[in-house]
Amino acid sequence: MYIEPSARGYDRSGQQVTRRARFLILVSLGLERTEEVCNVCSGFGKYVHGDDLDNARILPCYHCIPIPCAACDRKGWTFDEAVDEHANTCEACKGSGYLGPSGKMVKYIHHKEIRALVRKVAMHQCGHFMMGRARVFGSTLTLSGSYGGDGLTVEVPREVFERAVPLPQELHDAWNAGGGHNSAGSEAFAMREWALAHLAELE
Ligand SMILES: [Zn+2]
Ligand SMILES: [Zn+2]
Repeated sequence: MYIEPSARGYDRSGQQVTRRARFLILVSLGLERTEEVCNVCSGFGKYVHGDDLDNARILPCYHCIPIPCAACDRKGWTFDEAVDEHANTCEACKGSGYLGPSGKMVKYIHHKEIRALVRKVAMHQCGHFMMGRARVFGSTLTLSGSYGGDGLTVEVPREVFERAVPLPQELHDAWNAGGGHNSAGSEAFAMREWALAHLAELE
């Protein structure tokens, strides 16, 4: 969202443009993919099946991520360059493409914390949307809509997120209740005031 007046105009092809001006970007980590030790096999990739000691068997754990076979690039077969065709079943993985459980499980964490940054941004019309770009701590963010993510936050890498400024709780609550979807909601005024008062940290 622009926090200072920005000159609007049209380019030579009649598309709307907005000149560079201070723009408030709201960022979040969004959905983060993490791997953690499998809690079924405790990371061994195998587990003991059955309580009867005489009959217990050690089985591969199918709750873990399979380890991709590098020998065949998880295809299950190898390529014979001499004859230029698919050769036999991969020796390493016996044709499955995978070598067994890794002992790791994938978990997605939805991070809800919102942080903010201000950069000078120019916007260009792109179909129905206004889009722009900003350089932020070595990353280039593509922005659209009121806060950079079409009324939502822009998902950024952790390096960027950690250097952005935490949004005060009142603004976070107002943002949640604002009701803005593709545009800023009722929180826009307070958001702009806060950004202008904290420019030194945000820029
Ligand atoms: Zn497991
Ligand atoms: Zn293989």
